[in-house]
Amino acid sequence: MNILSIVVEPHHISELENLVKENGSLESCAILLGKREESDFLLKEVVPAQNKEFSIISFTIDEDSLFKIYKRAEEKGLSVIGVFHSHPTDPYPSETDKIYMQINPVPWIIKSTTTNEIRCFVYSEKRKNKNNDQIEEIRIKIKD
Ligand SMILES: [Zn+2]
Repeated sequence: MNILSIVVEPHHISELENLVKENGSLESCAILLGKREESDFLLKEVVPAQNKEFSIISFTIDEDSLFKIYKRAEEKGLSVIGVFHSHPTDPYPSETDKIYMQINPVPWIIKSTTTNEIRCFVYSEKRKNKNNDQIEEIRIKIKD
């Protein structure tokens, strides 16, 4: 079944915004833990991750911290349901992001540090769309 949306709570949005603020112009990244419920992904916990590259245009998460995050998810009965990172440009996946999105087909939330927009995309198994790729935007539902 296709993923239709990622359901987040207002405090998750603040956590992501604070993470971006703390990192200034560097790309921030976090792993999103939660559960899948039919066509929705429910976000339960934002786990900030160290951006190993210390770059403003790309991010690589350190393998040790990634391992710890997966272990934490397992202990809590959660799964990795998404990836978050910031862009100093528009909040759309870069060509490099698209490659990693295919390898890791969970929702990817991108926040622009210039427009402050926040959007979410996922790699889709469906045939190529009008942009000639398989990346689809999905809704970020904010729970009240
Ligand atoms: Zn990116």
